[in-house]
Amino acid sequence: MTQTVLPTAQTPGVYHKRIGEVIVTVLSDGGMQFPWWPFTELSEEDGTSLLESHFEVSPPYFNTNCFLIHIQGRLTLIDTGIGPGIGVFLDNLKAAGIAPEQIDTVLLTHLHADHANGLIYPDGTKVFPNAEVVVAKAEYDYWMDNRNMKNPLDEGEQANFQMAQAALAPYTGSIRTFSGEETEPVAGIKAIAAPGHTPGHTAYSIESAEEQLLIWGDILHNATIQLHRLDETLAMDVIPEQAILSRKHLLEYAATERLLITGMHLPFPGLGHIKKEAGRYVHLPEIWKPNL
Ligand SMILES: [Zn+2]
Repeated sequence: MTQTVLPTAQTPGVYHKRIGEVIVTVLSDGGMQFPWWPFTELSEEDGTSLLESHFEVSPPYFNTNCFLIHIQGRLTLIDTGIGPGIGVFLDNLKAAGIAPEQIDTVLLTHLHADHANGLIYPDGTKVFPNAEVVVAKAEYDYWMDNRNMKNPLDEGEQANFQMAQAALAPYTGSIRTFSGEETEPVAGIKAIAAPGHTPGHTAYSIESAEEQLLIWGDILHNATIQLHRLDETLAMDVIPEQAILSRKHLLEYAATERLLITGMHLPFPGLGHIKKEAGRYVHLPEIWKPNL
């Protein structure tokens, strides 16, 4: 009888997608079950019943995805995950055959820890020694100035500011910001302002040879909950009313234009379409294919 070792984890979370001349590699940073407290409107009871009716665990499970864009001979990474030691992004980058030294640009959707903390090792040093870091000016300006805290005595808020500042600290001198008028912060990657979750939260669109992919950042955290309840905000939404408007705007844009979309917290690799059905948006995952 053959003795086999039972698997205890997935094989690497790496998924390639061709968008015209561009290859987008989705790299999983893993995921985690999240507590209920950040949901500001939804009761745990209603949330649990919604999730269970969709065969999901409660509290909700969040994936985190990062995106490596192979474009014009350069490597741009969109978001970095929560950081070495917690997330599995670096393992998956290695599995994709890429070393951190090869990353030319790190483009950020926003500066929350689950997106920017992967810029540094636990000792505060750079993960991407050769990368320029690019982020919306509104985002950079907000998190770099402690005077922007709504409640300076709140330890959670203090931690968010400290983490954003620590993640960028070793890159001083290699940080570039862009503002509203600059629509292409990295060649071939368009920025679409989607503020609210954070003041400079930005979605990115990759358009090549008549194909398009919208990487929308944190427009949805748990798709089941927020597609049923578009007005559901989280405690970490800096400007909640604006976050709702940005969510509705990008969902409508994706549905109307029949766009291929993905996001940082959609189930890996998150690629799919948004369909409007009976007045509600539905996320339809793309079918897996072995070839690009
Ligand atoms: Zn996030």
